[in-house]
Amino acid sequence: MANDASTVFDLVILGGGSGGYAAALRGAQLGLDVALIEKDKVGGTCLHRGCIPTKALLHAGEIADQARESEQFGVKATFEGIDIAGVHKYKDGVISGLYKGLQGLVASRKVTYIEGEGRLSSPTSVDVNGQRIQGRHVLLATGSVPKSLPGLEIDGNRIISSDHALVLDRVPKSAIILGGGVIGVEFASAWKSFGTDVTIVEGLKHLVPVEDENSSKLLERAFRKRGIKFNLGTFFQKAEYTQDGVKVTLADGKEFEAEILLVAIGRGPSRRASATRSRASRRTAATSWSTSTCARTSPPSPPSATSSRRSSSRTSASPRASWWRSVWPA
Ligand SMILES: Cc1cc2nc3c(=O)[nH]c(=O)nc-3n(C[C@H](O)[C@H](O)[C@H](O)COP(=O)(O)OP(=O)(O)OC[C@H]3O[C@@H](n4cnc5c(N)ncnc54)[C@H](O)[C@@H]3O)c2cc1C
Repeated sequence: MANDASTVFDLVILGGGSGGYAAALRGAQLGLDVALIEKDKVGGTCLHRGCIPTKALLHAGEIADQARESEQFGVKATFEGIDIAGVHKYKDGVISGLYKGLQGLVASRKVTYIEGEGRLSSPTSVDVNGQRIQGRHVLLATGSVPKSLPGLEIDGNRIISSDHALVLDRVPKSAIILGGGVIGVEFASAWKSFGTDVTIVEGLKHLVPVEDENSSKLLERAFRKRGIKFNLGTFFQKAEYTQDGVKVTLADGKEFEAEILLVAIGRGPSRRASATRSRASRRTAATSWSTSTCARTSPPSPPSATSSRRSSSRTSASPRASWWRSVWPA
């Protein structure tokens, strides 16, 4: 393992999602010398597989609904259908514009961006691409991946996660969405607007059960009005393949069938990331932070004159940064 002891960053961040890159930008703004390590694309889940693509789908769905309902506003328009390839092109265009903006922002703040899969090797170092990256502090921001239930295997075809749903090359005729949390209801809304017959299965008493009850009730009323079906208060028992789809059975014996089952029951750390974390947690202590566990502890101390190789101009917020914050508050 190459170990360039002369390069000691103030802050080494593992994972370039919204947690990691926001910390990198803020660290750089405060004058820290920051290394950001990302194995995929800076922006992480939110930009590439989460907030942004789902909002693009929801917007496309809204346009479809407006075309359907245009007559009531005195506008002559006809809704002819969804061109899913066109929807993806629009969605990918939104992502790529923001991705370019973010790459530019990271570069303009002179954050050292390292592409590769990193592994915490000590409380103050991360190994990546055969190199040991040393830091006075290490921040773990490796994020999460879609979760499933024991015995419910996501095959990416008929039983899918939100990652698959975002790149699905067709509008399913019917869909069961397992989980009525924020991710589940967003897909329910977008797919309904695209013409899918949607049923949400939620084990707790309300849709978006972690929100206040009034919001849940408003959403349930709106969904009923739109013909989005939901079954509340009974937990999932099993899923089986049928000839052309999936059958879901609930704990009370109720059954639902659809072309596709979207598993949207939440997210958890990836096996690899959690293994990295648990091994690391045995060894790490005060010098390492994790966005999930220690983000509320005190920030790193300001860089000393010797540890910082940064110029003071890098600490001021650029107009581009303000623009970015207004688009996407970190
Ligand atoms: C469908 C969907 C819709 C969502 N909608 C919203 C929304 O509207 N609003 C909202 O606030 N939130 C939303 N979220 C949640 C939001 O995306 C997450 O809260 C956010 O992305 C978490 O950021 P993070 O930086 O912790 O993790 P992530 O964004 O997951 O980033 C972690 C990064 O670490 C990288 N990584 C992991 N392990 C390593 C390693 N060993 N080496 C190098 N890199 C590594 C990964 O490649 C990834 O880029 C949504 C999520 C989903 C799935």
